[in-house]
Amino acid sequence: MMLIETHAHLDYPDFAPDFNDVLRRATEAGVTRILTIGTSIESSRHAIELAEQHPNIFAVIGVHPSSVIEAEDDVITPLRELARSNRVVAIGETGLDYHRLPSAESARKKHADVFGALQTETEEELESGIADGAYKEKQAFLFQQQLDLAVELGLNVVIHQRDAWDDTLELLRPYAGKIRGVFHCFGGTLDQANEVAASGHLVSFTGIVTFKNGSAVRDVAARVPLSGFMVETDCPYLAPVPFRGKRCEPAHTRIVAESIASARGIPLESIAQATTATAEEFFDFNR
Ligand SMILES: [Zn+2]
Repeated sequence: MMLIETHAHLDYPDFAPDFNDVLRRATEAGVTRILTIGTSIESSRHAIELAEQHPNIFAVIGVHPSSVIEAEDDVITPLRELARSNRVVAIGETGLDYHRLPSAESARKKHADVFGALQTETEEELESGIADGAYKEKQAFLFQQQLDLAVELGLNVVIHQRDAWDDTLELLRPYAGKIRGVFHCFGGTLDQANEVAASGHLVSFTGIVTFKNGSAVRDVAARVPLSGFMVETDCPYLAPVPFRGKRCEPAHTRIVAESIASARGIPLESIAQATTATAEEFFDFNR
């Protein structure tokens, strides 16, 4: 049995203390290939280094929407340079994330910030409204650069979308037929999953499918076409049950696959075969 872990953050310091054990446990669980996903230029560079050191690790390079404030205005140039490594199998993760906008952040901080109280409510709202707009604009600008690079290189894209469904689809629309995306850590409805599939894109599922409160996602995972999804952990986050709350790792991809297999009432082997074939087609392992 072979599983491909399609979304790990192996460059995070969480894995430094026992990196080789993490890889060994993945192999023992049948997770034969791991895609490590960049979230910034630095993180992408590190992802490539790991992929060059370990034959079963591959790199996806990109700038995460939550990292756009620190990012330069031009990410296409450094990413293009990094993509010269043949260990790079896709672009991402990139996309839009409106979950924590600057206005929400400033509202949160206000409680702790005595000086914030000196500002009038309207001034503050106006300022955070402008900040939200600039933040969203930069996310869109960097997302488009990464989509353009993907077209240029003939690679597919790992998409991060949170609370920004309509804008994400709208930005993707002009690229239809040129590139495909995977909506990673999919948490939407079956209708949204079908909408994604109709445009040639994929979804992938994390350990959320094992959560007690993950029944809606589990149900979507049970009903999307077998060839329309992949499996991932998004480690170090989202450890599946019974490891929930602990550090997650690529070996747990097997638990994600098992949970989907049991929700669909089919053997793990069928999930492994289907998701591996889908990942082999989606990611460019033979550059
Ligand atoms: Zn991620």
